Amino acid sequence: MDKQPSLKIYGLVGYPAKHSLSPLMHNAAFKALKINAKYLLFEKRPQDLENFLHSLTKENIYGLNITIPYKEKILDFVTLDKEFFYLRQIKAVNTIVLENGIWKGFNTDIPGFSKDLKENIDPTNKRVAILGAGGGARAVAYVLANAGAREISIYDIDKKKSKEAASMIKSLFVNFRISPVDNIEQLDINQKDLLINATPIGLKGTDPCLIKEEMLPKDLFVYDLIYNPAQTKLLSLAKKRGIRTSNGLKMLLYQGMLSFRIWTNKDAPQEVMWQALRGEN
Ligand code: NAP
Repeated sequence: MDKQPSLKIYGLVGYPAKHSLSPLMHNAAFKALKINAKYLLFEKRPQDLENFLHSLTKENIYGLNITIPYKEKILDFVTLDKEFFYLRQIKAVNTIVLENGIWKGFNTDIPGFSKDLKENIDPTNKRVAILGAGGGARAVAYVLANAGAREISIYDIDKKKSKEAASMIKSLFVNFRISPVDNIEQLDINQKDLLINATPIGLKGTDPCLIKEEMLPKDLFVYDLIYNPAQTKLLSLAKKRGIRTSNGLKMLLYQGMLSFRIWTNKDAPQEVMWQALRGEN
């Protein structure tokens, strides 16, 4: 009799990580394709990350998603294929897989965000304001520069981070206009076509709304990378003004489908994963 393949573990490592809906969609996909695997949440404090990463094979972990605040730190732990060397400049890896004893790094946020954005609006020639300059924001800025946006203004509470993000993008897209700004007012949102929240502000019900209603022009598109809660204060405010919006749920789906393919070499079952995310199965 064939030996039963042992249970493979996948998961998400971050801090915090408990808000994530990734287990729902990946476990539904494993079940639908009869793959003997489980997706778990690993909420690890910074001081515990190193030990955790060195215990992966012992714990039967074959692949992970990486979230706040470890998308940069994980670069020290992985090898990148040549076509993904630019992730060292973007400093963001969100998916790792064990391949022939080597941990390889990928970024599925980039194609995931790109696909969902383009289903909502055409980014060509758009003027964009980005809140946040962490891993998610740098993936977003890469997509926009690559897609021919006209300009980006980027703000982070940590000025050093927005400056660094701007120079990373400039090193990859030499003539692209990206300006780090010192405060939200300087984002000039009323001159923009697209506002993107890539900060974690909005994850908690007690979080403030970073934007004031009068900053939002009526023909703006507001995209919040946060998907849980489905409607952040920012999205409520925009909707109240009749502004078009999207949360990050479809981005989560698309990046998750790509991670699933990397881990299993199988096409991800989109409908099963989408229904799981929407609580429909
Ligand atoms: P990150 O690397 O920690 O970056 C977040 C950045 O926002 C940090 O630089 C942080 O600065 C900054 N920030 C915090 N509070 C701020 C404020 N009040 N004003 C301006 N900047 C502020 O996190 P990330 O991985 O980019 O994720 C950001 C958000 O996007 C999270 O909510 C995450 O869940 C979401 N996300 C969603 C998807 C999806 O598939 N939908 C994918 C990726 C990310 P400090 O570090 O100094 O606090």
